[in-house]
Amino acid sequence: MSSLRFKVVDEAFNRKADPVELPDESAEKFYGKYVFNRQKMFEYLPAKTFAILSDAIDNKKPLPREVADSVAEGMRRWATDNGARHYTHWFQPLTETTAEKHDSFIEHDGKGGVVENFNGKLLVQQEPDASSFPNGGIRNTFEARGYSAWDISSPAFILGNTLCIPTIFISYTGESLDYKTPLLRALNSVDQAATAVARYFDPEVNHVRAYLGWEQEYFLVDEALYSARPDLMLTGRTLMGHESAKNQQLEDHYFGAIPSRVEAFMLDLENECHKLGIPAKTRHNEVAPNQFELAPIFEECNLANDHNQLLMSIMGEVARRHHFRVLLHEKPFAGINGSGKHNNWSLGTDTGELLFAPGRTAAENLRFITFVVNVMAAVHRHNALLKASIMSATNAHRLGANEAPPAIISIFTGSQLAEILDKIENSTNAELTDLSSREGLKLDVSQIPEITLDNTDRNRTSPFAFTGNRFEFRAVGSSANCGAAMIALNAAVAEQLMDFKEKIDARMKKGEELNQAVITEVRELIRSCKAIHFDGNGYSEEWRVEAAKRGLDCETSVPLIFDAYQRRESVEMFRRTGVFTDVELAARNEVKWEMYTKKVQIEARVLGDLAINHVIPVATRYQSILLDNISKIRDIFNPSRAEELSSTEVDSVEKLAEHMRVIRQEVARMVDARRVANRLNGEREKAIAYHDNVVPSMDVIRYHIDKLELMVDNEMWPLPKYRELLFIR
Ligand code: ADP
Ligand code: MG
Repeated sequence: MSSLRFKVVDEAFNRKADPVELPDESAEKFYGKYVFNRQKMFEYLPAKTFAILSDAIDNKKPLPREVADSVAEGMRRWATDNGARHYTHWFQPLTETTAEKHDSFIEHDGKGGVVENFNGKLLVQQEPDASSFPNGGIRNTFEARGYSAWDISSPAFILGNTLCIPTIFISYTGESLDYKTPLLRALNSVDQAATAVARYFDPEVNHVRAYLGWEQEYFLVDEALYSARPDLMLTGRTLMGHESAKNQQLEDHYFGAIPSRVEAFMLDLENECHKLGIPAKTRHNEVAPNQFELAPIFEECNLANDHNQLLMSIMGEVARRHHFRVLLHEKPFAGINGSGKHNNWSLGTDTGELLFAPGRTAAENLRFITFVVNVMAAVHRHNALLKASIMSATNAHRLGANEAPPAIISIFTGSQLAEILDKIENSTNAELTDLSSREGLKLDVSQIPEITLDNTDRNRTSPFAFTGNRFEFRAVGSSANCGAAMIALNAAVAEQLMDFKEKIDARMKKGEELNQAVITEVRELIRSCKAIHFDGNGYSEEWRVEAAKRGLDCETSVPLIFDAYQRRESVEMFRRTGVFTDVELAARNEVKWEMYTKKVQIEARVLGDLAINHVIPVATRYQSILLDNISKIRDIFNPSRAEELSSTEVDSVEKLAEHMRVIRQEVARMVDARRVANRLNGEREKAIAYHDNVVPSMDVIRYHIDKLELMVDNEMWPLPKYRELLFIR
């Protein structure tokens, strides 16, 4: 009866690793082959064009129109030399995937043929008809145009046979409709604010860059099994499925040997990454069965984010070549770990110093403490916003459950840094400063990076951890655009640094010496942001209670978490840093609520369908078999013996009936709840109704389906079970 299930399980289990065609050359040779990087620019552009473009990229200058023409021509020649026939502006709308519309290079030549052509105008700006991208009501249909404009700080690349030009995407009236525009603004803002503070310690600093090293977690599922799970296909996660008797309890998957099929996939993926200039470096098994991770070497934040977006799209392609499907959903399977995307983030100067790394001299250490403490203060001030920045319908399944991290933002510092913060807090300036050497700050911080990085029991329960020379924002979801988190974080830190600078300048105006002013202000900050510092177990119930007492945001409802974007302090912060206007903020929240509603709506529909037309019919059939058997027993045996022999079956029949009754009732209730929610006005209200009234029914339905899965004849069960989905061989 469930022949499909057995067929696909058989297919998946017998599949062998696909051979990977390894390039003959070393990675050094083909790295960046499909990227229009400096080397290609040098090769394909006239010397003068190359010089102006390089200067524009390095110093964030606009590109003159004539130069754009020359760049476009060189870029096209390079692209066609490498097999491209089309070009596209490649942008990141608020859908959490990338968008592209391909045009070919051809134009009429006036003689009945065509010429391949590309000019500066097409390179620099386009007007995609973008009315169907999420816009939160900013764009009325009569001004449906949006603009995409080239981001020269991120190099063009070739994907398939198409030249892709990374662009920002804004509305006709100038509001951002993507992740890149506000990210660039936030990076600009943190550059200015951090540079101003870094110059207290080193006047040579002219720019501060933010760096991002993401760690992408994902699941793989065999394509045959995937195709037999409508829930995976339509929602990216299993909406039902009883836990496998064995899953991750033996802890035998993390860092375990990589199955050969998966290793072939990884190798193939890494080669693709390297050709596209994505510095993929680390791969390993993750904690859950079938879960893996890929991490690159960190890069400048905007580029790193483009690369993560690009990675997520090529992963799917490469996986198909190996008969896998990639699941980027944060929680594809209940009962085992979900997937995140740790965002390792740091700030570094154009003089080559990392600002969150302790230095060799006392002055460098004071700078280190200054920046670390300002980050802590910013995260404290905006903890609700930072949580909102990583929240989504899908990530909600991972946060707040008993796995990293909780739905409360706190910072883990580790004991070495905590000791130093304590010492500063509890000492006077005179005690901390070695007056004889003038610049001497008596803080022994030089061993921090080694100690923290080597510390094997790093606290995995913390959503935001200091890890030696960077912070690791771990609450980010595996399917998210890192931009959302990076916008909020960089902007919040920029604002905090602006405030800090104002305070230092005011003190110095009154004649205070710089180091004294800095130490005093740092001490103030340590005192005022203590609530955010937590090195204990983030999963514990005590922490929830304690965090609430400390005034940290403990909201767990996704639609209400989004409210943080509209709080006065958030609106002011984004305004001050120039990252979002009030209109943009309001529009984006509309999109967030709408997305939430749609995702839950789709899941609820799929679950309802599967419950009614996959599960109930099978359970009914199984129940009939039992009933048939019971009546036959009664035909043969005397009543008391028959009763004895059939009592457990009667019991099963009753249980089956009860599970089915609840499922039917709950599906009906869920459909009603959706109907009521859909009639509400306002995206926020709708999302709240879905969260409060639809999601709980889904949990109930699933619970009863999973019980049925345990009872119904295995031969009859229609959907591949967890134990079949989860163990690639
Ligand atoms: P772990 O899993 O132990 O946290 P990984 O080696 O998997 O560490 O990932 C660490 C990530 O952090 C890598 O992408 C790495 O390049 C990045 N990283 C290291 N140093 C920095 C830094 N200063 N700023 C940003 N990212 C960094
Ligand atoms: Mg990490």
